[in-house]
Amino acid sequence: MVEKIAKTDAEWRKQLTPEQYQVTRRKGTEPAFTGETWDNHERGVYRCVCCGADLFSSEHKFDSGTGWPSFWQPLRAENVATEEDTSFFMRRTEVLCSRCDAHLGHVFDDGPAPTGLRYCINSASLKFERQ
Ligand code: FE
Repeated sequence: MVEKIAKTDAEWRKQLTPEQYQVTRRKGTEPAFTGETWDNHERGVYRCVCCGADLFSSEHKFDSGTGWPSFWQPLRAENVATEEDTSFFMRRTEVLCSRCDAHLGHVFDDGPAPTGLRYCINSASLKFERQ
């Protein structure tokens, strides 16, 4: 079990930039090709911008051509949660941080081997740490 972190809306607003807040706490989406890490090829770990949980690794990152950082699996399965998302007349699977419930992006089943998954994640929800 992942220990939960809960903060008030005011606390998140204070801690995050307006874009980070909009994406992670309001389920927003940054425009494609604008984030810091969609084209990042350095080795390292992608942590939750809200709570610092280890979410993704450069080892599982691939060039999806979408303009968002894309991974074929999370770093640790228990650190990300998924939920059915039917907003905007689409049926999608939302990806969240298990620890703080930050909205990260969506997962699709058109990714590369070995999982066939494509975790399409907002750069604004991640903090990259070179390793
Ligand atoms: Fe988090």
